Amino acid sequence: MAAINIGVLALQGDFHAHILMLGTLQDVHAREVRTATDLTEVDGLVLPGGESTTIIKLLKRSGLDKAIIMRAEEHMPIYGTCAGLILLAARVSERPDQPTLNLMDITVARNAFGRQIDSFETDLVVTSADADIPVRGVFIRAPFVAEHGNSVEVLSTYRDRVVAVKQSNLLGTAFHPELTNNNLIHRYFADMVQRSTKQPR
Ligand code: GLN
Repeated sequence: MAAINIGVLALQGDFHAHILMLGTLQDVHAREVRTATDLTEVDGLVLPGGESTTIIKLLKRSGLDKAIIMRAEEHMPIYGTCAGLILLAARVSERPDQPTLNLMDITVARNAFGRQIDSFETDLVVTSADADIPVRGVFIRAPFVAEHGNSVEVLSTYRDRVVAVKQSNLLGTAFHPELTNNNLIHRYFADMVQRSTKQPR
């Protein structure tokens, strides 16, 4: 199989963990993306966890926000974890003026699991078309998907809360698979990227 290039947005947050995780996959080259030029060299992009308000500020400052939106419209696969999921969302509940990339038809609630269980881990299943993927869900001041449009597939829930979603070329999880030793969700995303590179543009 031809190798694919997957970028990880490296402005703030836990991008290095994604680079390491992608590095465990065959046929995948992982690289940091900081500029619009970097973005032209990748076939797919990961938006890491971190602080969504900081990341969007940095994206806007560099104009990289517009470049990402353009590539998303050309069907480049994008995977957002935690803060990255917030960046993908069209709406942030209770913070309607928080800017995002506005790509996925979802409303996210930030820091939504409450103070008592700020951070926790649990076993989850992510359902994909091919198979059920077992994952260790690591949640750190995580959001969940409070509302979603009809074109959004729910891939996983935790206590009736939606924590993994897919809409066409966009994938989002409220949790952090990059902080576990299980690379199956990254494999799943790499397969999305692999397929998209084979489609005529
Ligand atoms: N609480 C952060 C935010 O709202 C997300 C936390 C994370 O990415 N681990 O941006």
